Amino acid sequence: MAYSFKYRALFLRRSMDVNRIANRARKSISTFCIEECKAYCCRKGHLVVKENEINKVTQGRKNELIAEGKLKPIIGGKYSLYIGDEDNACPSLKGNKCLIHKSRLRPKTCGDFPIYIVDKTVMISGSCTAARAGMFYPYIKKFMKLGYKVSEGSGLLNSDFYKVAE
Ligand code: SF4
Ligand code: SF4
Repeated sequence: MAYSFKYRALFLRRSMDVNRIANRARKSISTFCIEECKAYCCRKGHLVVKENEINKVTQGRKNELIAEGKLKPIIGGKYSLYIGDEDNACPSLKGNKCLIHKSRLRPKTCGDFPIYIVDKTVMISGSCTAARAGMFYPYIKKFMKLGYKVSEGSGLLNSDFYKVAE
């Protein structure tokens, strides 16, 4: 019993630590995102948005975007929003900055990208410019020190950021 309590406490501490490091790593690239990368991930592919987030993310343009075929319902009561090129970036993007950055209605995948923690693995999207430039290197070492496996590469092209509505 004492052993399982100790093990659980250790597990919780590690998971808090890994999330703290991931948040620090995401924050460390914020200037690069705006000034160098120019918010590439906010103008690429499709973004999955929950029903309650639609009005916020589309800046009130839900009906207009549905009529234009850029917003489509998908399974689970969610929507797929096309944010695939220069002229069709996410409606919440202005001057390479997210207008809803601090809102609780910003999709979780936007806040997590490009680092996702799944069980004992930290996955870093290979489609992120900062990741490709090796900017997460110091954090990768920290994740590994905590005993996490780090997976980098194109696997996250299938993340919510890139799911295509058919
Ligand atoms: S692709 Fe990566 S570096 Fe570029 S804006 Fe997105 S998170 Fe930042
Ligand atoms: S909601 Fe914000 S972070 Fe997410 S795609 Fe749109 S502009 Fe980018």
